[in-house]
Amino acid sequence: MFVDSHCHLDRLDLEPYGGDVKAAVQAARQAGVDGILCVCIDLENFPSVLKLSELDNVWASVGIHPLEDKCREATADELFKLAQHEKVVAIGETGLDYFYAGDRKEEMQSRFVTHLDVAAQARLPVIIHTRDARADTLNLMKAHVCQESAGVLHCFTESWEMAKAAMDMNFYISLSGIVTFRNADALREVAKKVPLDRLLIETDSPYLAPVPHRGKSNEPKYVADVARYLAELKGVSVGELAQITTDNFYRLFNTASPTVV
Ligand SMILES: [Zn+2]
Ligand SMILES: [Zn+2]
Repeated sequence: MFVDSHCHLDRLDLEPYGGDVKAAVQAARQAGVDGILCVCIDLENFPSVLKLSELDNVWASVGIHPLEDKCREATADELFKLAQHEKVVAIGETGLDYFYAGDRKEEMQSRFVTHLDVAAQARLPVIIHTRDARADTLNLMKAHVCQESAGVLHCFTESWEMAKAAMDMNFYISLSGIVTFRNADALREVAKKVPLDRLLIETDSPYLAPVPHRGKSNEPKYVADVARYLAELKGVSVGELAQITTDNFYRLFNTASPTVV
C-alpha cells in the first residue's frame, strides 16, 4: 500500500475519468495507493482542497505556495484558524524558490517565516518547497521550525548536504517522479543515501509524471511507479519500501488517521 504524500488533486486532468475526481482517486486505490495528501497553494484554492479531503483517506494542507504572486496574503491568525479543521494535517506548501524568484526574495522569506511560525504554533508538520535557495531555506528553518512537529522537504532536488541538514532537524525527504528522469543522476545519488526511515514518496501531480508516463498528465496512481523505481535503486522489495514510506507518512502527519475502505 502506497501513500501519495503530495499532490494537487484539484488540478488533475480528469478527461480520462469523465471529469470525475472520485474515479481518479478510485483508480489510485486500485493501483494500491490508499492515502493521498492534497496540498493547498493559496487561499482561493483552499475550499476545493478541503472539499476533496472529504473523501476517505484524503487529507488537506493549508498554505500559500512561494511562487503565488497575485494572491491575497494570509495572516498568521487566518492560517492558524484554517489549520484547525480536522482534515488539515499540515501547513504548506511554503518555502523559497529562487529559480523563479526575480525580485520577490524578501517577500518569499517573510511569507515562509509566517508559515513556519504557524506550523510551530499549531504543532503541525510543514511542507517545504525549496529550489536554488539552500542557505536561506536552512537558516530560516533553523530559526523557526519546531523539531517536534517537523515537516518534509517535498519534491526534493537539492544536495545531500541539504538533505542531511534537514534530517538533522527531524525532517523527512520526499522524492517525486523526478528521480526516474534520465538526467537525474545527482538526485539518484542523494536518494541512495537517504535512510529509508526518513523517506516519503509523492507524485506532485498533475506535474512531473514519472517514467514510463512522461509527457502524460501525472496522477496519484503513478506514485506506485516512483516506489518501484526507488525500491530497485535502494535494493529493497517494493513491499518493504511501500510499508516503510507509508509508516513514515503517518508518523509525520500524525493527525491523519486512515480508515479501512
Ligand atoms: Zn512544490
Ligand atoms: Zn506541490
